[in-house]
Amino acid sequence: MPQVLVLNASYEPLGVVSLRRALVLVLDKKAVSLEDTGVLMHSATTAVSAPSVVRLTRFVRVPFRGPVPLTRRALFARDGGRCVYCGGVATSVDHVIPRSRGGQHAWDNVVAACRRCNHVKADRHLADLGWRMKRTPAPPTGLAWRIIGTGHRDPRWRPYLEPYGTAEELAHLAPIPAHHHAGGAPPGAPVELSA
Ligand SMILES: [Zn+2]
Repeated sequence: MPQVLVLNASYEPLGVVSLRRALVLVLDKKAVSLEDTGVLMHSATTAVSAPSVVRLTRFVRVPFRGPVPLTRRALFARDGGRCVYCGGVATSVDHVIPRSRGGQHAWDNVVAACRRCNHVKADRHLADLGWRMKRTPAPPTGLAWRIIGTGHRDPRWRPYLEPYGTAEELAHLAPIPAHHHAGGAPPGAPVELSA
């Protein structure tokens, strides 16, 4: 099921919802479509174009947002999918202070790393190796990041997230390679909308 980016009336990104949920918002006039996929959705009486971005018609006050959950996907998004030590393609999660030496599994102690650096580093401290990181790991912040961290992506979202994120983060909105489409209808195929 495609996912739809939801913006507040103020254009602030709020989250990602299923296409079905987004269509209900649009049909109830609680949101308007800003970007269409061009895919027609058919109900019993009407056909509407499936949105990829909707904006709420009324401003909603967003309660305090808690800390971002630490997941592998979120960590790779924060570190741009690159090894923090050598800049190579990250394939693993490294604890800067090794867990065997009391390092915590927390945003300020985990980084994305390539297999080689992770293997070479093993359970040693950076100082033992003379290694340095380009920047100190920290919990991610920013509204765009909260959208990207969900793992859902659509290049059409980019202009709406640009004011809220870095280029590195937004690079994660690139189209998903075709072989990553797991089942479902092929792109462009009509989707049945049951009421
Ligand atoms: Zn590396």
